[in-house]
Amino acid sequence: MADRPLTLMAVHAHPDDEATSTGGVLARYAAEGIRTVLVTCTDGACGDGPGGAKPGEEGHDPAAIAELRRQELEASCRILGIDHLELLGYGDSGMMGWPANDAPGSFWSTPVADGAARLADLMLRYRPDVVVTYDENGFYGHPDHIQANRITMAALTQAALTPKVYWTTAPHSMMQRFGELMREFGTDGGDGADRADGDNPEPTGEAVELPPIGLPDEEITTWVDATAFGGQKYDALLAHASQGENIFFLKMGRERFTELMGVETFVRVLDTTGAALPEKDLFTGLR
Ligand SMILES: [Zn+2]
Repeated sequence: MADRPLTLMAVHAHPDDEATSTGGVLARYAAEGIRTVLVTCTDGACGDGPGGAKPGEEGHDPAAIAELRRQELEASCRILGIDHLELLGYGDSGMMGWPANDAPGSFWSTPVADGAARLADLMLRYRPDVVVTYDENGFYGHPDHIQANRITMAALTQAALTPKVYWTTAPHSMMQRFGELMREFGTDGGDGADRADGDNPEPTGEAVELPPIGLPDEEITTWVDATAFGGQKYDALLAHASQGENIFFLKMGRERFTELMGVETFVRVLDTTGAALPEKDLFTGLR
């Protein structure tokens, strides 16, 4: 194993996902001299167009959006210090139920074996010590995130060299805090600065319904403190400012963002090192 650098590979669905859920670990491990490889599966063409235009709406030019998002992704990689960016280039499948799910070339309509074979080639080339992707529900049910999980787990059976494999997740305590901040910085047209919180002691009527995602805190196996890299993570997300869903996080500002998102959490789903759980480092047992 000494013939190559320790390597982290993150497999993500869209440009910007690398920043949201793994920007901290990518920046931290890059700073520690670990080689970092990002695999982004789709072109992000179903993302927001200028002015927030959605697919099918006027002003939504999928090719232009894909090009812009590739540039944003490259900027994010520079900020996070990612050594290698690999693009699988599948078509963005859009949200579950959208016509784009079944469009020719969409990631969702691609047989798992096809994507897995391509990813296995990358795993054989880079021989990652740690692989990170989403859980089986793609964290929140997005078809491209689910597909990223499927091709990753299938690729790992073909290129069975990786000692540690993780799925990204969020502890329920963090989701609760996230819900509070969503109400505070929500995008429902309310201007947080004008709201008198004291007038609304029971704001649950307008509470944002969070989907049943994440895990009870005690089921998180791995907590990685990347708060020292919160600024880089924020800046990486800022590089993806064309996407409306990121505006919410950016509105928090660096400090609040780092407070909420600075510690990244994972479930270890494969391990050959025997490292005790819970752990604080994806590379425990490997160095
Ligand atoms: Zn995504």
